[in-house]
Amino acid sequence: MQVKFLDLKAVNEPYFPEMLEATRRFLESGWYVLGKEVESFEEEYAAYCGANYCVGVSNGLDALRLILEAYKALGMVREGDEVIVPANTYIASILAITQSGLKPVLVEPHPESYNINPDEVEKQVTSRTRAIMAVHLYGQLADMDRLSAIAERHGLLLIEDAAQAHGAKLHNGGRAGSLGHAAGHSFYPGKNLGALGEGGAVTCMDKELAEAVKALRNYGSHKKYYNLYKGFNMRIDENQAAWLRIRLRGLDRENEHRRMLAGIYDSMLDPALVKRPKVMEYGEHVYHIYAIMHPDRDGLQKYLADKGVSTLIHYPLPPHKQEAYKEWNYMSFPITEEIHNRELSLPISPVHTKEEIKYVASMINSYK
Ligand SMILES: *Cc1c(COP(=O)(O)O)cnc(C)c1O
Repeated sequence: MQVKFLDLKAVNEPYFPEMLEATRRFLESGWYVLGKEVESFEEEYAAYCGANYCVGVSNGLDALRLILEAYKALGMVREGDEVIVPANTYIASILAITQSGLKPVLVEPHPESYNINPDEVEKQVTSRTRAIMAVHLYGQLADMDRLSAIAERHGLLLIEDAAQAHGAKLHNGGRAGSLGHAAGHSFYPGKNLGALGEGGAVTCMDKELAEAVKALRNYGSHKKYYNLYKGFNMRIDENQAAWLRIRLRGLDRENEHRRMLAGIYDSMLDPALVKRPKVMEYGEHVYHIYAIMHPDRDGLQKYLADKGVSTLIHYPLPPHKQEAYKEWNYMSFPITEEIHNRELSLPISPVHTKEEIKYVASMINSYK
Protein backbone atom coordinates (compact mmCIF):
# COMPACT_ATOMS: atom_id res chain seq x y z
CA MET A 1 0.00 0.00 0.00
CA GLN A 2 1.19 3.56 -0.76
CA VAL A 3 0.19 6.20 1.82
CA LYS A 4 1.01 9.80 0.93
CA PHE A 5 1.66 12.28 3.69
CA LEU A 6 -0.71 14.81 2.17
CA ASP A 7 -2.53 14.91 -1.16
CA LEU A 8 -3.54 18.54 -1.61
CA LYS A 9 -5.37 17.97 -4.86
CA ALA A 10 -7.54 15.31 -3.24
CA VAL A 11 -8.19 17.57 -0.24
CA ASN A 12 -9.44 20.38 -2.48
CA GLU A 13 -11.19 18.29 -5.13
CA PRO A 14 -14.57 17.99 -3.37
CA TYR A 15 -14.73 21.79 -3.42
CA PHE A 16 -13.75 22.24 -7.09
CA PRO A 17 -17.30 22.83 -8.44
CA GLU A 18 -17.95 25.58 -5.89
CA MET A 19 -14.45 26.99 -6.35
CA LEU A 20 -14.90 27.18 -10.11
CA GLU A 21 -18.16 29.04 -9.56
CA ALA A 22 -16.44 31.43 -7.12
CA THR A 23 -13.60 31.92 -9.61
CA ARG A 24 -16.06 32.92 -12.30
CA ARG A 25 -17.70 35.37 -9.86
CA PHE A 26 -14.25 36.77 -9.00
CA LEU A 27 -13.20 37.13 -12.66
CA GLU A 28 -16.44 38.81 -13.66
CA SER A 29 -16.50 41.16 -10.68
CA GLY A 30 -13.77 43.35 -12.18
CA TRP A 31 -12.60 44.12 -8.60
CA TYR A 32 -9.43 42.21 -7.71
CA VAL A 33 -7.98 43.60 -4.48
CA LEU A 34 -9.72 44.01 -1.09
CA GLY A 35 -13.27 43.57 -2.31
CA LYS A 36 -16.45 41.78 -1.28
CA GLU A 37 -14.88 38.31 -0.99
CA VAL A 38 -12.30 39.53 1.54
CA GLU A 39 -14.97 41.40 3.51
CA SER A 40 -17.29 38.39 3.57
CA PHE A 41 -14.50 36.02 4.53
CA GLU A 42 -13.47 38.32 7.37
CA GLU A 43 -17.03 38.42 8.72
CA GLU A 44 -17.50 34.67 8.40
CA TYR A 45 -14.15 33.73 9.92
CA ALA A 46 -14.54 36.15 12.86
CA ALA A 47 -17.96 34.62 13.57
CA TYR A 48 -16.56 31.09 13.25
CA CYS A 49 -13.73 31.78 15.72
CA GLY A 50 -15.95 33.76 18.07
CA ALA A 51 -13.73 36.82 17.71
CA ASN A 52 -15.06 40.35 17.33
CA TYR A 53 -12.85 41.21 14.34
CA CYS A 54 -10.96 39.49 11.55
CA VAL A 55 -8.55 41.12 9.11
CA GLY A 56 -7.37 39.05 6.14
CA VAL A 57 -3.63 39.33 5.46
CA SER A 58 -0.91 37.90 3.24
CA ASN A 59 0.17 34.86 5.32
CA GLY A 60 0.66 33.55 8.85
CA LEU A 61 4.06 35.11 9.47
CA ASP A 62 2.73 38.51 8.43
CA ALA A 63 -0.37 38.04 10.61
CA LEU A 64 1.83 37.68 13.70
CA ARG A 65 4.09 40.51 12.54
CA LEU A 66 1.10 42.81 11.97
CA ILE A 67 -0.25 42.16 15.48
CA LEU A 68 3.08 43.20 16.99
CA GLU A 69 3.49 46.17 14.63
CA ALA A 70 -0.05 47.30 15.44
CA TYR A 71 0.64 47.18 19.18
CA LYS A 72 3.77 49.25 18.50
CA ALA A 73 1.78 51.73 16.39
CA LEU A 74 -0.74 52.05 19.23
CA GLY A 75 2.07 52.68 21.72
CA MET A 76 1.33 49.52 23.71
CA VAL A 77 4.64 47.82 22.88
CA ARG A 78 8.03 49.43 22.31
CA GLU A 79 11.05 48.30 20.34
CA GLY A 80 13.24 46.05 22.52
CA ASP A 81 10.36 44.79 24.67
CA GLU A 82 10.31 41.09 25.46
CA VAL A 83 7.87 38.52 24.12
CA ILE A 84 7.76 35.08 25.75
CA VAL A 85 7.44 32.31 23.15
CA PRO A 86 7.89 28.52 23.18
CA ALA A 87 11.34 27.27 22.11
CA ASN A 88 9.73 24.41 20.18
CA THR A 89 7.72 26.12 17.54
CA TYR A 90 7.97 26.67 13.83
CA ILE A 91 10.53 29.43 13.30
CA ALA A 92 7.89 31.82 11.87
CA SER A 93 6.55 32.56 15.38
CA ILE A 94 9.99 33.81 16.34
CA LEU A 95 10.75 35.59 13.06
CA ALA A 96 7.63 37.71 13.59
CA ILE A 97 9.03 38.87 16.93
CA THR A 98 12.55 39.69 15.76
CA GLN A 99 11.29 41.33 12.54
CA SER A 100 9.21 43.67 14.71
CA GLY A 101 12.30 44.74 16.65
CA LEU A 102 11.21 42.86 19.77
CA LYS A 103 13.11 40.34 21.85
CA PRO A 104 11.96 36.70 21.94
CA VAL A 105 12.40 34.98 25.29
CA LEU A 106 12.34 31.25 24.62
CA VAL A 107 10.78 28.88 27.14
CA GLU A 108 10.61 25.10 27.33
CA PRO A 109 7.34 23.31 26.57
CA HIS A 110 5.41 21.21 29.03
CA PRO A 111 7.08 17.77 28.97
CA GLU A 112 3.78 15.98 28.34
CA SER A 113 1.68 18.21 26.07
CA TYR A 114 4.67 19.81 24.26
CA ASN A 115 2.79 23.11 24.36
CA ILE A 116 4.17 26.20 26.12
CA ASN A 117 4.56 25.56 29.84
CA PRO A 118 2.79 28.20 31.98
CA ASP A 119 5.18 27.56 34.91
CA GLU A 120 8.16 28.38 32.67
CA VAL A 121 6.39 31.46 31.35
CA GLU A 122 5.82 32.75 34.86
CA LYS A 123 9.54 32.32 35.66
CA GLN A 124 10.58 34.44 32.67
CA VAL A 125 8.38 37.49 33.28
CA THR A 126 10.51 40.62 33.82
CA SER A 127 9.84 44.35 33.80
CA ARG A 128 10.61 44.31 30.03
CA THR A 129 8.03 41.61 29.22
CA ARG A 130 5.08 42.93 27.23
CA ALA A 131 3.52 39.85 25.67
CA ILE A 132 3.19 36.08 25.64
CA MET A 133 2.91 34.34 22.28
CA ALA A 134 1.24 30.95 22.73
CA VAL A 135 1.49 28.46 19.87
CA HIS A 136 -1.24 25.82 19.55
CA LEU A 137 1.25 23.15 18.51
CA TYR A 138 0.17 20.32 16.16
CA GLY A 139 -3.47 21.48 16.48
CA GLN A 140 -3.82 21.26 20.26
CA LEU A 141 -4.65 24.40 22.23
CA ALA A 142 -2.08 25.71 24.67
CA ASP A 143 -3.27 26.02 28.28
CA MET A 144 -5.04 29.33 27.62
CA ASP A 145 -6.85 29.54 30.96
CA ARG A 146 -3.58 29.50 32.89
CA LEU A 147 -1.81 31.73 30.37
CA SER A 148 -4.67 34.28 30.54
CA ALA A 149 -4.39 34.35 34.32
CA ILE A 150 -0.63 34.97 34.11
CA ALA A 151 -1.09 37.65 31.44
CA GLU A 152 -3.72 39.38 33.54
CA ARG A 153 -1.68 39.21 36.72
CA HIS A 154 1.34 40.85 35.05
CA GLY A 155 -0.52 43.15 32.64
CA LEU A 156 0.73 41.33 29.51
CA LEU A 157 -0.74 40.90 26.06
CA LEU A 158 -1.64 37.32 25.15
CA ILE A 159 -1.17 36.50 21.47
CA GLU A 160 -2.10 33.18 19.86
CA ASP A 161 -0.18 31.62 16.99
CA ALA A 162 -3.17 29.69 15.69
CA ALA A 163 -1.54 28.62 12.40
CA GLN A 164 -1.93 24.91 13.22
CA ALA A 165 -5.22 25.00 15.09
CA HIS A 166 -8.11 26.25 12.92
CA GLY A 167 -11.31 25.26 14.67
CA ALA A 168 -9.72 23.86 17.86
CA LYS A 169 -11.96 24.68 20.80
CA LEU A 170 -12.09 24.62 24.54
CA HIS A 171 -14.78 22.36 25.98
CA ASN A 172 -16.06 25.28 28.02
CA GLY A 173 -16.26 27.73 25.15
CA GLY A 174 -14.17 29.55 22.61
CA ARG A 175 -12.15 28.52 19.62
CA ALA A 176 -8.56 29.27 18.66
CA GLY A 177 -8.50 32.90 17.61
CA SER A 178 -10.74 34.12 20.44
CA LEU A 179 -8.76 32.94 23.46
CA GLY A 180 -6.29 35.81 23.85
CA HIS A 181 -6.08 39.47 22.89
CA ALA A 182 -5.17 38.72 19.28
CA ALA A 183 -4.38 35.73 17.10
CA GLY A 184 -2.44 35.07 13.90
CA HIS A 185 -3.75 32.44 11.46
CA SER A 186 -2.05 30.92 8.42
CA PHE A 187 -3.91 29.61 5.37
CA TYR A 188 -0.84 28.01 3.79
CA PRO A 189 -2.23 25.21 1.58
CA GLY A 190 -1.27 22.37 3.95
CA LYS A 191 -2.90 23.88 7.06
CA ASN A 192 -6.30 22.63 8.24
CA LEU A 193 -7.93 25.64 6.59
CA GLY A 194 -5.81 26.04 3.48
CA ALA A 195 -5.86 28.49 0.60
CA LEU A 196 -4.47 27.70 -2.87
CA GLY A 197 -1.46 29.92 -2.33
CA GLU A 198 -0.69 32.42 0.40
CA GLY A 199 -3.15 33.70 2.96
CA GLY A 200 -3.49 34.57 6.62
CA ALA A 201 -5.64 36.47 9.09
CA VAL A 202 -5.57 38.35 12.35
CA THR A 203 -8.51 37.87 14.68
CA CYS A 204 -8.95 40.00 17.78
CA MET A 205 -11.38 41.37 20.30
CA ASP A 206 -10.41 45.01 20.22
CA LYS A 207 -11.61 47.48 17.56
CA GLU A 208 -8.58 49.75 17.83
CA LEU A 209 -6.21 46.88 17.19
CA ALA A 210 -8.27 45.61 14.24
CA GLU A 211 -8.23 49.07 12.68
CA ALA A 212 -4.48 49.43 13.15
CA VAL A 213 -3.88 46.00 11.54
CA LYS A 214 -6.22 46.91 8.69
CA ALA A 215 -4.32 50.13 8.02
CA LEU A 216 -0.88 48.51 8.42
CA ARG A 217 -1.63 45.72 5.90
CA ASN A 218 -2.38 48.44 3.33
CA TYR A 219 0.63 50.84 3.52
CA GLY A 220 -0.58 52.21 6.85
CA SER A 221 -3.51 53.81 5.09
CA HIS A 222 -6.82 54.16 6.92
CA LYS A 223 -8.33 56.15 4.02
CA LYS A 224 -7.22 56.08 0.36
CA TYR A 225 -4.01 58.13 -0.07
CA TYR A 226 -3.91 59.16 3.61
CA ASN A 227 -1.44 57.28 5.79
CA LEU A 228 -1.51 57.03 9.56
CA TYR A 229 1.46 54.67 9.84
CA LYS A 230 4.55 53.55 7.93
CA GLY A 231 2.77 50.38 6.82
CA PHE A 232 3.26 47.32 4.64
CA ASN A 233 1.67 45.65 1.66
CA MET A 234 0.38 42.52 3.41
CA ARG A 235 -3.06 42.05 1.91
CA ILE A 236 -4.86 38.78 1.29
CA ASP A 237 -5.92 38.12 -2.32
CA GLU A 238 -9.57 38.42 -3.24
CA ASN A 239 -9.59 35.02 -5.00
CA GLN A 240 -7.94 33.29 -2.01
CA ALA A 241 -10.65 34.77 0.25
CA ALA A 242 -13.35 33.48 -2.13
CA TRP A 243 -11.91 29.95 -1.99
CA LEU A 244 -11.36 30.09 1.77
CA ARG A 245 -15.05 30.91 2.31
CA ILE A 246 -15.88 27.61 0.62
CA ARG A 247 -13.25 25.59 2.53
CA LEU A 248 -14.40 27.15 5.83
CA ARG A 249 -17.81 25.52 5.44
CA GLY A 250 -16.15 22.10 5.40
CA LEU A 251 -13.67 22.72 8.22
CA ASP A 252 -15.61 21.20 11.13
CA ARG A 253 -16.39 18.07 9.11
CA GLU A 254 -12.73 17.74 8.07
CA ASN A 255 -11.50 18.21 11.64
CA GLU A 256 -13.97 15.54 12.78
CA HIS A 257 -12.48 13.14 10.21
CA ARG A 258 -8.97 13.94 11.46
CA ARG A 259 -10.07 13.16 15.05
CA MET A 260 -11.62 9.87 13.94
CA LEU A 261 -8.33 8.86 12.25
CA ALA A 262 -6.32 9.98 15.30
CA GLY A 263 -8.53 7.70 17.39
CA ILE A 264 -7.42 4.74 15.24
CA TYR A 265 -3.74 5.60 15.78
CA ASP A 266 -4.40 6.11 19.51
CA SER A 267 -5.99 2.70 19.90
CA MET A 268 -3.60 0.77 17.65
CA LEU A 269 -0.12 2.18 18.34
CA ASP A 270 1.74 0.22 20.96
CA PRO A 271 2.46 2.63 23.86
CA ALA A 272 5.58 0.61 24.73
CA LEU A 273 7.04 1.50 21.31
CA VAL A 274 5.91 5.08 20.72
CA LYS A 275 5.22 8.06 22.91
CA ARG A 276 2.63 10.67 21.97
CA PRO A 277 1.95 14.20 23.20
CA LYS A 278 -0.68 14.08 25.91
CA VAL A 279 -4.11 15.24 24.80
CA MET A 280 -5.20 17.73 27.44
CA GLU A 281 -8.67 17.37 28.90
CA TYR A 282 -9.61 21.04 28.46
CA GLY A 283 -10.03 21.09 24.69
CA GLU A 284 -10.60 19.45 21.35
CA HIS A 285 -7.52 18.65 19.23
CA VAL A 286 -7.75 19.30 15.48
CA TYR A 287 -4.73 17.13 14.55
CA HIS A 288 -3.03 19.39 12.05
CA ILE A 289 -0.19 16.98 12.78
CA TYR A 290 -0.31 13.51 14.35
CA ALA A 291 3.05 13.44 16.14
CA ILE A 292 4.78 10.45 17.70
CA MET A 293 8.12 10.27 19.50
CA HIS A 294 10.43 7.39 18.71
CA PRO A 295 13.95 6.74 20.03
CA ASP A 296 15.05 5.58 16.56
CA ARG A 297 13.08 8.14 14.60
CA ASP A 298 15.31 8.18 11.50
CA GLY A 299 15.38 4.39 11.28
CA LEU A 300 11.60 4.21 11.64
CA GLN A 301 11.12 6.86 8.97
CA LYS A 302 13.25 4.87 6.49
CA TYR A 303 11.45 1.64 7.36
CA LEU A 304 8.06 3.27 6.76
CA ALA A 305 9.26 4.74 3.46
CA ASP A 306 10.20 1.19 2.36
CA LYS A 307 6.66 0.13 3.25
CA GLY A 308 5.20 2.91 1.09
CA VAL A 309 4.36 5.31 3.94
CA SER A 310 5.47 8.97 3.68
CA THR A 311 6.14 10.86 6.90
CA LEU A 312 7.59 14.24 7.82
CA ILE A 313 9.47 15.71 10.78
CA HIS A 314 8.08 18.80 12.55
CA TYR A 315 10.79 19.95 12.92
CA PRO A 316 14.32 18.59 12.49
CA LEU A 317 16.11 21.59 14.05
CA PRO A 318 14.72 23.98 16.70
CA PRO A 319 14.92 27.75 16.06
CA HIS A 320 17.70 28.28 18.63
CA LYS A 321 19.95 25.81 16.75
CA GLN A 322 19.37 27.39 13.34
CA GLU A 323 22.11 29.24 11.46
CA ALA A 324 19.67 32.18 11.21
CA TYR A 325 19.82 32.61 15.00
CA LYS A 326 23.55 31.90 15.47
CA GLU A 327 23.54 34.11 18.54
CA TRP A 328 21.38 31.51 20.35
CA ASN A 329 23.21 28.36 19.20
CA TYR A 330 24.94 28.03 22.60
CA MET A 331 21.62 27.84 24.45
CA SER A 332 20.25 24.58 25.75
CA PHE A 333 16.57 23.60 25.88
CA PRO A 334 16.68 19.85 26.55
CA ILE A 335 12.94 19.12 26.26
CA THR A 336 12.72 21.05 23.00
CA GLU A 337 15.82 19.35 21.60
CA GLU A 338 14.55 15.91 22.59
CA ILE A 339 11.25 16.58 20.76
CA HIS A 340 13.11 17.69 17.65
CA ASN A 341 15.32 14.59 17.75
CA ARG A 342 12.47 12.12 18.15
CA GLU A 343 9.39 13.58 16.51
CA LEU A 344 7.81 11.90 13.49
CA SER A 345 4.59 13.15 11.86
CA LEU A 346 2.28 10.42 10.54
CA PRO A 347 -0.13 10.78 7.63
CA ILE A 348 -3.44 12.36 8.67
CA SER A 349 -5.77 14.47 6.53
CA PRO A 350 -9.41 14.83 5.52
CA VAL A 351 -8.90 12.36 2.66
CA HIS A 352 -6.98 9.56 4.38
CA THR A 353 -9.03 6.40 4.91
CA LYS A 354 -9.32 4.18 8.00
CA GLU A 355 -7.62 1.38 6.06
CA GLU A 356 -4.61 3.57 5.28
CA ILE A 357 -4.26 4.65 8.91
CA LYS A 358 -4.58 1.04 10.15
CA TYR A 359 -1.87 0.03 7.69
CA VAL A 360 0.48 2.81 8.92
CA ALA A 361 -0.14 1.89 12.57
CA SER A 362 0.51 -1.82 11.97
CA MET A 363 3.74 -1.03 10.08
CA ILE A 364 4.94 1.06 13.04
CA ASN A 365 4.11 -1.72 15.47
CA SER A 366 6.08 -4.17 13.30
CA TYR A 367 9.28 -2.08 13.40
CA LYS A 368 11.91 -3.66 15.63
C1 LIG B 1 2.70 27.67 9.22
C2 LIG B 1 3.04 28.35 10.48
C3 LIG B 1 3.32 29.72 10.52
C4 LIG B 1 3.54 30.56 9.29
O1 LIG B 1 2.46 30.66 8.41
P1 LIG B 1 2.77 31.06 6.89
O2 LIG B 1 1.41 31.30 6.33
O3 LIG B 1 3.45 29.91 6.25
O4 LIG B 1 3.59 32.30 6.90
C5 LIG B 1 3.52 30.31 11.76
N1 LIG B 1 3.47 29.59 12.90
C6 LIG B 1 3.22 28.26 12.89
C7 LIG B 1 3.17 27.52 14.20
C8 LIG B 1 3.01 27.59 11.69
O5 LIG B 1 2.79 26.27 11.69
